Amino acid sequence: MPQYRRDPLTGRWVIVAEERALRPHQFEFETNGGDSPKSYCPFCPGNEKLTPDEIDVIRPAGSPPNGSGWKVRVVSNQYPAVVANDDFPTQQAFQQRYGDILDVDTPLSVLGDPFYQPMPGVGTHEVIIDTPRHIRCISELTEPEVIDLFRIYKRRLNKLSQKKQYASAMIFKNVGVDAGASIPHLHSQLLSMPLVAPPIQRELHRAIAYRRETTRCYWCEHIQLEIKNAARIIEQTDNFVSLCPYVSRFPCEVAIFPTQHESHFERAAESHLQELALLVRKTIILLCKAVTWRKSPLAYNVILKSGPFVYQCPLDIRDMHDFAAAWLDKIDYSFENVYHYHVSILPSLAKSAGFEWGCGLHINPVSPESAAVLLRGKM
Ligand SMILES: [Zn+2]
Ligand SMILES: [Zn+2]
Repeated sequence: MPQYRRDPLTGRWVIVAEERALRPHQFEFETNGGDSPKSYCPFCPGNEKLTPDEIDVIRPAGSPPNGSGWKVRVVSNQYPAVVANDDFPTQQAFQQRYGDILDVDTPLSVLGDPFYQPMPGVGTHEVIIDTPRHIRCISELTEPEVIDLFRIYKRRLNKLSQKKQYASAMIFKNVGVDAGASIPHLHSQLLSMPLVAPPIQRELHRAIAYRRETTRCYWCEHIQLEIKNAARIIEQTDNFVSLCPYVSRFPCEVAIFPTQHESHFERAAESHLQELALLVRKTIILLCKAVTWRKSPLAYNVILKSGPFVYQCPLDIRDMHDFAAAWLDKIDYSFENVYHYHVSILPSLAKSAGFEWGCGLHINPVSPESAAVLLRGKM
């Protein structure tokens, strides 16, 4: 059973999941001269029996489940980082049991044992197989394929948000060995948890405080300033903007935001979903064109961060000062008003090393302003 463990001093969390060590590393198999990839790839059509049964799918009407013919297929991760647990039928049950540990501001003296605070690794871990084609990069997806993929993302988040067990979910992709992929066939992962991860809690707290102080949304204001400044903008479409963040950790890091206030991707209109999917694909194509000095194909991570499923911030409700301020100000501090969903793209162009691990500070040898010029030049 996986465990969440928190470092009491730094507040850093880890998931200890020994099951993950068993997962096959297919890249090694390929480089060691094994069979042709498709014959043993668990994500290729014809090999559906090598994965757990599908839990969601886009396939032609009438075609049998777990057979070939699908366009996008979702299965449980065979080597999960977190697992479902009937002891916690609701995320509130989990929060009630572990609330003090989950709250990043709880003083250590309040915790019974400040040194060891394990929590069961409750959650779901799904694999989304992006396409039946044995390809490795988003740039190789057709436009209809990438739109179908984002439709499945929305459907899965909607499904999980309706379940009572989970407070948040994250969708991510590891593309290439350098980005942590173990299977080359293009796929995504979705991990849901009964808690809001501490870095996102902190983000939300700061955004709530900013809204209280100014009555404005931090994200909306920041995005409009970036558009006005233009130095880090790569591209703007009708409803989205792609840019190199001011605080980029890696060379050519990209973030894509809706330009209007939208907190939850799972509520995006179909036209917005399509626009975002195409912009993500185009951005990856630009990145692939920009990194011509690499001998191997670009490795990267894509992360889709949407607002937490619990729409009212439980930590703020607990804080009577915040509660009174909200009532007096008549300001709604729910997550819908203080979060913007967004996509982060992190090319694996610089490895984290001693200083990054020691201090948590990334040294980025390419300024986001230079990266934006580079990427715009490839359009
Ligand atoms: Zn494959
Ligand atoms: Zn906003």
